Amino acid sequence: MRILVVYAHPDDESFGPAAALAAYARRGAEIWGIFASRGERGESWLSPAPSPEELGRLREQDLREAAAVLGFAGIEILGYPDGEVDTVPFRELERRVRAALRRYRAEVVITFGPFGITGHPDHRAVHRAVVAAFHRARLAGAAVQELYYDAVPPARAGEMGIADLPCGQPNTWIAVTEEDARAQVTALWLHGRHIRDAREMAERLAREPALVATFYRAWPEVRSGERVTAFLQNEATGAG
Ligand SMILES: [Zn+2]
Repeated sequence: MRILVVYAHPDDESFGPAAALAAYARRGAEIWGIFASRGERGESWLSPAPSPEELGRLREQDLREAAAVLGFAGIEILGYPDGEVDTVPFRELERRVRAALRRYRAEVVITFGPFGITGHPDHRAVHRAVVAAFHRARLAGAAVQELYYDAVPPARAGEMGIADLPCGQPNTWIAVTEEDARAQVTALWLHGRHIRDAREMAERLAREPALVATFYRAWPEVRSGERVTAFLQNEATGAG
């Protein structure tokens, strides 16, 4: 199985699908990541705060180490300015994502939903480009089969005020092991060396390990009330 994740900033992968990626990597999936920016405008807890240039360098290194822990085959950073991904011409971003879908012969694609979990404009811009690229690639006969959005469990979605959105209504629940959950915490700690939110999330997940990873499968559509429990589930089971 070949999986491509597309995100805006280093650490988006560790907040989102990390435990599921660790689980699939352990079972032999090939996982690639595309990141629009180096996250140089992120909120660091370091004092004095590093310059954006320095923070970008640190975060790229954090991402490479986190990706290694999670079992990625490799990552690419597109190098757009953090906080300005929504000003990149849509066709340019879409074309670069589509080129990556082809280059990695991705079957499963994971990205943000329309609201991007936090509403960050960079997250939303990545979502739009990935959805367009996915369907154009699909219609042109590329290997892509399934498109997933990050989604948090309903209780957490309620706390975050996103219960009515796809990113608060998971239809895909993938069981992970304690080892996979620990890999997510380790990846978050690596980002947490420089980024406040990541450190807080690592502490939270270390206290309350999540043994299920949740997503919203956007393509193929999932019938209301049905629950997906694996990527490429139909292929694996032969069920319809
Ligand atoms: Zn982000």
